[in-house]
Amino acid sequence: MAKAYAKKFYNSKEWIKARKSFISSRVSIDGGMCQECKKDLGYIVDHVKEITPSNIDDPNITLNRDNFRYLCLICHNRKTFGEARVTGNDVMFNELGELIVRE
Ligand SMILES: [Zn+2]
Repeated sequence: MAKAYAKKFYNSKEWIKARKSFISSRVSIDGGMCQECKKDLGYIVDHVKEITPSNIDDPNITLNRDNFRYLCLICHNRKTFGEARVTGNDVMFNELGELIVRE
């Protein structure tokens, strides 16, 4: 579900390498638990300061470990959709205002 401008970045060698080494460092620290809820296993390496079209070429944002957080899917979705309030093509709000995955 990466945004179009970020697609190239998420497929880049640099990101794949940075992501992999960040995950192994998290695994050696606490077994790779979600850094937010610390209950579930991490699933996604999230950028604390989110990637935008204006910082996508700035490795201090995109490839800086200090800007990474290992999150489980639930925490990641809460952060991403909670802040952005955007419904992409894969998700929608139901009548209760809950975010659900489109069937
Ligand atoms: Zn979590």
